[in-house]
Amino acid sequence: LGTARTLWDLVVRRAGLTPGRPVLLQERRTLTFGELRTRAERVAAGLYGMGVRPGTVVAWQLPTRIETALLSLALARLGAVQSPVIPFYRDREVGFALRASKAEFFAVPGVWRGHDHTEMARRLGARGILEAYDTLPDGDPSVLPAPPAEGTSVRWIYWTSGTTSDPKGVLHTDRSLIAGGSCLAHALRLTPDDIGSIAFPYAHIGGPDYLVMLLLYGFPAVMFEHFALPDALAEYRRHGVTVAGGSTAFYSMFLAEQRKRPRTKVVPTLRLLAGGGAPKPPEVYHAVVRELGAQLTHGYGMTEVPMITMGDPEDTPENLATTEGRPPTGMEIRVVDGEIRLRGEAVCQGYLDPAQTAAAFDAEGFLRTGDLGRVTDSGHLVLTGRMKDVIIRKGENISAKEIEDLLAAHPAVADAAVIGLPDADRGELVCAVVEQPPDAAELTLPELVSYLRTQGLSVHKLPERLEVVTALPRNDTLRKVLKYKLRERFTQP
Ligand code: ATP
Ligand code: MG
Repeated sequence: LGTARTLWDLVVRRAGLTPGRPVLLQERRTLTFGELRTRAERVAAGLYGMGVRPGTVVAWQLPTRIETALLSLALARLGAVQSPVIPFYRDREVGFALRASKAEFFAVPGVWRGHDHTEMARRLGARGILEAYDTLPDGDPSVLPAPPAEGTSVRWIYWTSGTTSDPKGVLHTDRSLIAGGSCLAHALRLTPDDIGSIAFPYAHIGGPDYLVMLLLYGFPAVMFEHFALPDALAEYRRHGVTVAGGSTAFYSMFLAEQRKRPRTKVVPTLRLLAGGGAPKPPEVYHAVVRELGAQLTHGYGMTEVPMITMGDPEDTPENLATTEGRPPTGMEIRVVDGEIRLRGEAVCQGYLDPAQTAAAFDAEGFLRTGDLGRVTDSGHLVLTGRMKDVIIRKGENISAKEIEDLLAAHPAVADAAVIGLPDADRGELVCAVVEQPPDAAELTLPELVSYLRTQGLSVHKLPERLEVVTALPRNDTLRKVLKYKLRERFTQP
């Protein structure tokens, strides 16, 4: 099946092989591979009746539900260009996505979690507003034109998290998504007997990538519209989930639940926690393996390249704890002046803005990731930070991550972000922004500096400014700290 040219081709082939096996499980509902195909075809016919044609741009902002997967597949069947938007996003990000993608249609969930998405869509001047929560467009598939013959045209516009600046529109093809999903399935050593889970927004690029895994291997996943522990654990137990996915915050939530009843395994069938996308402290790896009795593999990915490296569940604990794993076959990694650069089938075609595309690829077609790292002798990738996180003080490069790691180990620090702020004499000065635990006494700069000195931090890296905040600004999907907001806030006008 790995040779499928398009996502729809993959659906048709899988539905032919195991039509009666389940693919998506949600609450009390089960969708089989056969139904996935026949229902998506009817939705495609309904969309066609509304005027959606191959190449029509359709944005959607829908929660993680079976209906969303069907709508997305129907668009793939038609050969439309779809632009998924994270459901938590509001006017600023949604307006940006609608304008930049020039979407002709916008599918929304109506009122969802107390927010009127239809009203927001109208306010933003969206065209072709379509509610697609419980009911989806429907029609007779015999009206449909042939499905797309190739998977190499741009059919997906994803949005980066906007951690370093405004979100960028990332262009993907069916082929790049299939390449990413199949690499991930190999890396995790999945089998047709696994039962997966989709506990992250389906509108994230991981959504269809996950679906690709299910289609390739023929196993099901449990979908969560509202993911909250401990209820979600009951669902995991009921379905016998073997592979759970998420990011660092998710592992910690899982551990907290396990700690409430250390004697029984919270999810007895669980063999693997797999995730990535944000830094993972080695302690978390060790705690998961010890306390959950499951393996943890963590990987490196980005909207531009959803699967770059992934830990192999059978690798050594040392490698799993301290690296992001190795790249799959077909992914070329190069480190140039500390920056990670990538080439391969899973890499995006570029950005919506041609100027951004031109700046992103080097002369040999490698994508500049803006991430810093190194490759060990055994071929494992170690991430060391982001280029935009490098503070340049008096001409010396200072890694924010190095200081953050030290701060994170301080008992009166819950979380910390280190940023550079413009400074007339030094170029930039080092500012530590600290979130403290509720009961901790407020830290002072001299205390912090003397602590960092005892930890061996060189003098030229010591923070010159400290800001204590109640909560660091974070994005909605992976809870990553938005440093540009901190820079805006603490830069003196
Ligand atoms: P923007 O590009 O708009 O500033 P963003 O880069 O945060 O936002 P995403 O594509 O969602 O948007 O995130 C990808 C980035 O997340 C990577 O480039 C990397 O910096 C970070 N990242 C991904 N995986 C890991 C990981 N395992 N450990 C640490 N950081 C990671
Ligand atoms: Mg990025």
